[in-house]
Amino acid sequence: MSINDKLRKIQKELKNNTVLVAVSKTRKVSEILEAYNCGQKVFGENRVQELVQKNNELPQDIEWHMIGHLQSNKVRYIAPFVDLIHSVDSLKLLSEINKRAIQNNRIIDCLIQVHIAKEDSKFGFKINQITDVIYKAQQLKGIKIKGLMGMATFTNNRERIINEFSQINTIFQKIKTSQINILSIGMSSDYLIAVENGSNMVRIGSAIFGSRRTS
Ligand SMILES: *Cc1c(COP(=O)(O)O)cnc(C)c1O
Repeated sequence: MSINDKLRKIQKELKNNTVLVAVSKTRKVSEILEAYNCGQKVFGENRVQELVQKNNELPQDIEWHMIGHLQSNKVRYIAPFVDLIHSVDSLKLLSEINKRAIQNNRIIDCLIQVHIAKEDSKFGFKINQITDVIYKAQQLKGIKIKGLMGMATFTNNRERIINEFSQINTIFQKIKTSQINILSIGMSSDYLIAVENGSNMVRIGSAIFGSRRTS
């Protein structure tokens, strides 16, 4: 199947209000352009240097999302153009994004990353910290919190994935407002489970572009 066929197939499986973020990390500019020319305008990257380079090389109407762990000392490189940061996982990072947003005369849209996986390797706040983080973020003039992001455990255990997604959906339903309305859950292996559990933004890489040799 071509990139076009895969995009169409995934779009059909998603509800109309679900945003598809095409995860283009490690992909060549030519592959991204192929998806772009099929109408895909939202792309996600997980490395700052790669994101900056691709933003320079690709059409300006692309909406760039930062989806990977972000170090505070690198925020300044993406602050001028990034459209949504999915991976806010500390107050230190939040305050740095705020500072760089103000320097650039911008308000940067952010999602709070929630740790739902039973793996230590994944980043994010605990569920019981979320309301406090949102309150603190609302005091920052350069930040607009748009919702929550999470990653389920990498497992074939469907029940476990459902359990983790429903935990983040439960807290999302509690904090949801007209402004805070994005729930970013679901990747290539679990996006169908995610949309059954409240997702309205999925981050899909390999199901569009094929498997990655490295990540
Ligand atoms: C790589 C990545 C994805 C996409 O993974 P696929 O399995 O290729 O769909 C989604 N979210 C994050 C945070 C990622 O790093």
